[in-house]
Amino acid sequence: MRGPTESFDYIIVGAGSAGCVLANRLTASGRHRVLLLEAGGADRNIWIHIPLGYGKLFANKKVNWLYSTEPEPELDGRRIIQPRGKVLGGSSSINGLLYIRGQREDFDHWRQLGNAGWSFDDVLPYFRRAEDQERGEDSLHGVGGPLAVSNVCEPHPVCEAFLTAVEQAGFPRNDDFNGPTQEGAGYYQLTARNGRRCSTAVGYLRPARRRHNLVVAANALTRRILFDGRRAIGVEYLEGRATRTAYAAGEVIVAGGAFNSPQLLQLSGLGPAALLQSCGIDVVADMPGVGADLQDHLQVRMQYRCTEPITMNDVINSRRQRLAAGLRYVLWRKGLLTIGAGYAGGFFRTDRSLATPDVQVNLLIFSADTVGAALHPFPGFIAAVCQLRPESRGHVRIKSADPSEPPAIQPRYLSAPADRDVIMRGMKLLRRIMGQPAIRRYIAEEHAPGAHCTGDEDLLAFARATGTTVFHPTSTCRMGRDATAVVDERLRVHGIERLRVADASIMPTVVSGNTNAAVIMIAEKAADMILADATAGAVTPASPSRAA
Ligand SMILES: Cc1cc2nc3c(=O)[nH]c(=O)nc-3n(C[C@H](O)[C@H](O)[C@H](O)COP(=O)(O)OP(=O)(O)OC[C@H]3O[C@@H](n4cnc5c(N)ncnc54)[C@H](O)[C@@H]3O)c2cc1C
Repeated sequence: MRGPTESFDYIIVGAGSAGCVLANRLTASGRHRVLLLEAGGADRNIWIHIPLGYGKLFANKKVNWLYSTEPEPELDGRRIIQPRGKVLGGSSSINGLLYIRGQREDFDHWRQLGNAGWSFDDVLPYFRRAEDQERGEDSLHGVGGPLAVSNVCEPHPVCEAFLTAVEQAGFPRNDDFNGPTQEGAGYYQLTARNGRRCSTAVGYLRPARRRHNLVVAANALTRRILFDGRRAIGVEYLEGRATRTAYAAGEVIVAGGAFNSPQLLQLSGLGPAALLQSCGIDVVADMPGVGADLQDHLQVRMQYRCTEPITMNDVINSRRQRLAAGLRYVLWRKGLLTIGAGYAGGFFRTDRSLATPDVQVNLLIFSADTVGAALHPFPGFIAAVCQLRPESRGHVRIKSADPSEPPAIQPRYLSAPADRDVIMRGMKLLRRIMGQPAIRRYIAEEHAPGAHCTGDEDLLAFARATGTTVFHPTSTCRMGRDATAVVDERLRVHGIERLRVADASIMPTVVSGNTNAAVIMIAEKAADMILADATAGAVTPASPSRAA
């Protein structure tokens, strides 16, 4: 039984994609005592571990914060859902499992912005260290790491037709989006092993939980970081009904994700002074960048009625086929239950003069009116266009000093004119692919937006009326050297001692692809920097005997 006050070397807030990696790496030597705090509970829900179960977790408040945005002015005033994992593994326990790192140029750009140590060549060893790649090891891929990366188990006729159509439209085939080039279309790889999800709770935390120097507190909401002047010394958290305090002789590491990390910093007195004062919070440091620069990927989902009953709609809507799919999974770990958020997809340049792809297309072999809604009663599939490098910037701001009140989340999707152009060009590019002979045989009609939607204005109106997140919020505690950057290139909060942020919120710009792999890389690198600083004496860890 732990007492109301405890001491550790490191306190990690949030057991998500990043937090579980940190907990594993910081405890590996046995020298440091670590407390990992997680607001959610254990990852016992069976649907977490079955890849297709992803669809069951969108609206499950036991594992999901169920955030939504403020009304979005450029999306017809709609509030956009923002699911986030609230469970061990965080969003890596509820995400779509797609394993995409982003483009080499994303990280080289981070380096260009002044962040030494973050070029692609610098971060590649961390991607490789994390990975247990089913296809084996090469200069870009690793094996033996905690994160299982595997191929989708079998081809699907609609995906095959899509991949041929891509080539008919003049774009390349690509069998490895994390290989030498991202451009082209192919099947995705998933963070899964033997048909089971490999969240960071599974890959990193499970093997570390046996260690005597790791304490994991689930259902423990961190309410604020404690400071002595401008030095972080611990946290106050709520476990059940008990308010507890934990002290860190080394560092506090915030890994609450792109919404909760800036929220926690603001609740603790780090943020825009006027906002904090309006909520009655004492200002520790006036930091306008905390919660600023929110970036996210917007997707527009084009829906197709399929000519043949070969889609997931047909399986889910038939009791017999559902049972057969379940049996296939139980016996051989194959079939529809092993599929993540996308089956196949591609990265394309909407303008040939661009150096790298600016849109991603996700092919889903089911169709529904909105994310998480019931599948259509007819055979159908979706191809979703997502803009990879949005220029729109939003924010996350607390509404009160109450840690249990969700912050205001305002991505300001499509507020930058360039983003509107790219999404329109992306939809037109997708229509060009879907007009090719190979895929046309499977398209009875474009169900939405539909044949009546022709001009740029119509396409934009569809994007405004139906566009939604691909769940990649980042950059709200941005790494950099400028006045509004929150952390430096070693992820230390500017002007504050012994406090780091390590999660999706530190990305200077969102990567051109899905974000889980990059977050895991960030945490791998953060762990090395934290341990190196401890060794160099920048931080003096408490000896295990000093811990309670
Ligand atoms: C529905 C969905 C689908 C996605 N699909 C994909 C995909 O297919 N591929 C991909 O690469 N990426 C995908 N992503 C994105 C990816 O999963 C996230 O970018 C990544 O998991 C973020 O990691 P993180 O560590 O920053 O935050 P998270 O993983 O969200 O972790 C934050 C953790 O901190 C906890 N926490 C927060 N505040 C507190 C507090 N005050 N006290 C204690 N604990 C706290 C949270 O409960 C959570 O467990 C998806 C995300 C979602 C939500």
